[in-house]
Amino acid sequence: MKQDTMYKPRILVIDDDDQVRRVLLDIFSGVYDCSEASSAEAALKVLAQDSFDLVLSDINMGGMSGLELVPHVHSLSPDSVVLMISGQSNIETAIEAMRAGAFDYIMKPFDIRHVEAAVERALKQRLLLEEKRRYKDELEKLLQERTAQVDRLAYYDTLTSLPNRTLFEDRLTQAVALAQRANKKVAVLFIALDQLKKVNDSLGHLAGDQLMQEAAVRLRGCVTKSDTVARFGGDQFVLMLPEIERTKDAVDVVSLIQETLNPSFKLGRQELFATASVGISFFPDDGKETSSLVKNAGAALYRAKKSGGNEYRFYTADMHAKASKRFELETSLRHAIDNREFLLHYQPRVAIDSLQIVGLEALVRWQHPKLGLVPPGDFIPLAEETGLILPIGEWVLREACRQNCKWQNKGLARMRVGVNISARQFQQQHLADTVMMILEEAELAPEFLELELTESSIMSNAEATIEVLTKLQTSGVSISVDDFGTGFSSLSYLKRLPIDSLKVDQSFVRELATDPDDAALVMAIVSLAHTLRLRVVAEGVETEEQLRFLRLLRCDEIQGYLISKPLPVEGIEQLLAAQRPLFHDAIPV
Ligand code: C2E
Ligand code: MG
Ligand code: MG
Repeated sequence: MKQDTMYKPRILVIDDDDQVRRVLLDIFSGVYDCSEASSAEAALKVLAQDSFDLVLSDINMGGMSGLELVPHVHSLSPDSVVLMISGQSNIETAIEAMRAGAFDYIMKPFDIRHVEAAVERALKQRLLLEEKRRYKDELEKLLQERTAQVDRLAYYDTLTSLPNRTLFEDRLTQAVALAQRANKKVAVLFIALDQLKKVNDSLGHLAGDQLMQEAAVRLRGCVTKSDTVARFGGDQFVLMLPEIERTKDAVDVVSLIQETLNPSFKLGRQELFATASVGISFFPDDGKETSSLVKNAGAALYRAKKSGGNEYRFYTADMHAKASKRFELETSLRHAIDNREFLLHYQPRVAIDSLQIVGLEALVRWQHPKLGLVPPGDFIPLAEETGLILPIGEWVLREACRQNCKWQNKGLARMRVGVNISARQFQQQHLADTVMMILEEAELAPEFLELELTESSIMSNAEATIEVLTKLQTSGVSISVDDFGTGFSSLSYLKRLPIDSLKVDQSFVRELATDPDDAALVMAIVSLAHTLRLRVVAEGVETEEQLRFLRLLRCDEIQGYLISKPLPVEGIEQLLAAQRPLFHDAIPV
């Protein structure tokens, strides 16, 4: 019942006695919107068309009685209030009608004041009923919304709106049960976007989030209704293919995933390409339970990532052995610093013409108590993943500076020592301050330190990079770009950077004499570097032929086994003491 002032409550008067109806209509027509019916049957027809706030009904009307009418009224119009009109003789019946759901009764002959009061009470009741219903509806709606919200939070990933781990595991458990009965396989595909970390590091987390959202939409497009794609956080998605027949079905889906990721992603004004690594496990072959299927697909994913990304791998039983070996390695790496298990080897860098040593590069090794001397390639990636690279890197820096100062104090040739700085170290807020502090501690002048940064870590976050590098260079520290040619440098950006040299990656040097493309590339790098007034160092020079080529291409310095392998401190001391060209057979020009 509307409560605005213009609204007239609607009343239906039902009585087979014309006179009674007239009396009642006379009383109420001015105040209320009144309709009438001369029998219960006629009233039902009216009620089917229209709704009323109040129904005033006689009890005995020849055909259907008022008593029988009450439940019909309520089923047609649940909020209508019914008032019975009763003669003196059938008060019992009126009371019975109230039991059946009527609200009150008025007696004939009418006392107008009583009738008006009863109608007013009944209409108040009508309002009350309506309010109660509205309140209940609102409460129910609120409750539904809250439940949906809680469900969303508990079962869906907020960034991508995909099912989360909980919902995925739930569905996988069901799928496994069904597949067991149907004697079918279930495939679990653990998927990681290869580029997310790079995007987060270089373009920021907002761009990373955008990449994941777009990838989620594309992945959803790769599956049918019965499959589930979920997000497990970070760069990880998991896909479940229930009731598949053959392993090949899973491979087909991997191809589809690779295809859908193929078109470029637009993140703001940036356009980039993304690929995925996928690890696959099957029920029942690789596990009977949800947790082991997910864990094994994860182990397979780790192998896929290890092989360079954009690959898929099936789970194999020996993956666990490898995973636990990795875990063991991580644990012992954590103790390696305290146990003083790291040491540095140094590799000479020589001028290309005179072959005189012009610098050294510090290269870390891990003297593992059981595994022996572990090369950096076997533990630096793990150290980067776990963050242990920060304390390790700081130790390397400190040790290299300390050793260089020691050599100088011994009266050996004074030269620059290069230290490799990983991307993670470079992102540290106070790198420049840390470097200055370490130099001071070691009492080494900044011009005897060179920092080797990889292309990708320099290319991320342009403005911050320029600021840190400028600070370092102003203080006298040299900067070189390591493994140059393997990243994606923007030339205009390179020009703005305060760097001193480029180290051409050994992959280009390797084929230099045999692959014209590599020769052309090195030539381009040298001429670019010289235009920008940068020195060019070729890494991994192993043959005389390579040296000859590099001389032709006007490279400035070289480093490689042809001259010397990285050597322990004593080996370097001997070389420095000898102070002569290191490779006698190559005639210095
Ligand atoms: P890098 O900085 O490019 O160092 C050059 C690598 O090439 C060294 O490998 C060196 O031994 C090797 N090499 C030198 N000459 C030749 C050659 O003629 N032929 C071949 N095939 N290889 C040659 P190493 O010592 O195993 O280090 C590998 C990488 O590990 C380094 O590459 C560097 O990226 C990283 N690394 C080493 N020490 C550190 C460190 O203290 N901190 C960080 N963050 N990374 C380090
Ligand atoms: Mg290096
Ligand atoms: Mg290098």
